[in-house]
Amino acid sequence: MYGAIQAELADRLDETRQAGTYKTELVMSTPQGAHVDVEGRGEMLNLCANNYLGLANHPAIVAAAHEALDRWGYGMASVRFICGTQALHRQLEARLSEFLHTEETILFSSCFDANGGLFEALLNERDAVISDQLNHASIIDGIRLCKARRLRYANGDMDELEARLTESQDARYRLIATDGVFSMDGYFARLDAICDLADRHDALVMVDDSHAVGVAGAHGRGSHEHHGVIERIDILTGTLGKAVGGASGGYVSARTEIVDILRQRARPYLFSNSLAPPVASASLRALDLIESSHELRRRLHDNTEHFRTRMTQLGFDVLPGEHPIVPVMVGEEVRAARLAAELADRGVYAVSFSYPVVPRGTARIRTQMSAAHTTQDLDFAIEQFVGARERVAH
Ligand code: PLP
Repeated sequence: MYGAIQAELADRLDETRQAGTYKTELVMSTPQGAHVDVEGRGEMLNLCANNYLGLANHPAIVAAAHEALDRWGYGMASVRFICGTQALHRQLEARLSEFLHTEETILFSSCFDANGGLFEALLNERDAVISDQLNHASIIDGIRLCKARRLRYANGDMDELEARLTESQDARYRLIATDGVFSMDGYFARLDAICDLADRHDALVMVDDSHAVGVAGAHGRGSHEHHGVIERIDILTGTLGKAVGGASGGYVSARTEIVDILRQRARPYLFSNSLAPPVASASLRALDLIESSHELRRRLHDNTEHFRTRMTQLGFDVLPGEHPIVPVMVGEEVRAARLAAELADRGVYAVSFSYPVVPRGTARIRTQMSAAHTTQDLDFAIEQFVGARERVAH
């Protein structure tokens, strides 16, 4: 029986390899950090983690996880509503609401699950979701799982968004869905303009702030703080797997009734295990660190500015912006892959992204800055970019 599908799968895998899109995984033998040891390569400078604040192996976070293991145990072996809710989970939900300036928060195992469960629980065929074309896969999948009408607008194009709002006037509810920061470009969504349009057309706004929570805004609350629209977003989703500790977990933080309905209806919440206590506890500690000091964000900001400025001066085509996602544009797919390989040979871990993840002809090396990088780290990376560019040109 397996023979038929086996042959077909093998063909598909061959096609993927031939197209140059087969993904392999480098294996690390150290904790996540600015420097990691990679099997077969040795030490590398890591420029591709979402470890924006350097908390993934921060001593205070590791200590919080250790303490939680002793105090709360390892796992919950239950979903939340059966016997999987500890005071710790409630505490983290309340803490996130306070930090984000929202009414209520509900935890999920991941932001992928948060986005996967959100739309279906709230909307039905009488409603419409209007989604930015570059939204994360989890938003796209979440929208697919609900019966609402789906409309798309070109990335950041407010005229198209308005056209879609006009076009969907007959829907009972309309929800605009956007990433707070688009992960391939590091561009912020124009939340101020989006909120204005939502007000004018009586629509709700949902923002996935996975790449901005802990990073953007004067206090690190995220892109709603960055744009001064803190009280105007109806639904925020986000991850605990990037700046906020870097382990795993996600949330929806929103109006009270929205969160309450999600507790009753969101399928990934009802049918998937609770967040592990050490992760919940360490996430609380991460929020403490983020709130009690601007130092990590300041370092991240300085690193980002340094890298963006030097790379641009050296003639690299860096997408403009201020986010620690710094895409170095290459254009042609094969050239981007060669540049990434050359960088790896020089001890710099950075990944090339090409079609279909980004549009054809816009392949790039996506670098990501971290508060854990030193200026010397970044200068080393810049030097290797220059050397690798020379090699790839010949
Ligand atoms: N949303 C966005 C914008 C992301 O970049 C990611 C992670 O890649 C996710 C959601 C998924 O987050 P998680 O890893 O918590 O599932």
